[in-house]
Amino acid sequence: MPLEKYNKLRNFSKTNEPKGEVKKGTGSVYAIQEHRSSHLHYDLRLEIGGVLRSWAIPKEPSTDPKTKRLAVETEDHPVDYASFEGKIPEGEYGAGEVKSWDSGTFEIIDRKEDKLILEIHGKRLKGKFVLIRTKFGGDPKNWLFFKKKEEE
Ligand code: MN
Repeated sequence: MPLEKYNKLRNFSKTNEPKGEVKKGTGSVYAIQEHRSSHLHYDLRLEIGGVLRSWAIPKEPSTDPKTKRLAVETEDHPVDYASFEGKIPEGEYGAGEVKSWDSGTFEIIDRKEDKLILEIHGKRLKGKFVLIRTKFGGDPKNWLFFKKKEEE
């Protein structure tokens, strides 16, 4: 069931995060959220198939193609999550403050099994970005996220 893991991890009588329901957004929702949980990280979210596919990026995303960021795939989130801001209470999953770092839309320019080329239309990130599954340390959840080099 989509979003089952998302719902299982949260107690909605305690957290203000949206309940996990599959619901279409604009079809191309893009967001990055700054999340001050036990470690500050940046959550990349892309609307694909009625949910937000999600990756936790431990360091601030960069617009320099040479600066490649680890992006650890996490559980799918509901589309409504893209506009969530607030404090997840102490003791709850992901406890800490969530606020918007970037938002907008995106398109998939090219998709291979373990590689997505995205065109991002955000306020901070604009242009082509690459998401590639590297499986660092043998972990399939490990991807890299970086700005695509401009073509000559
Ligand atoms: Mn997070």
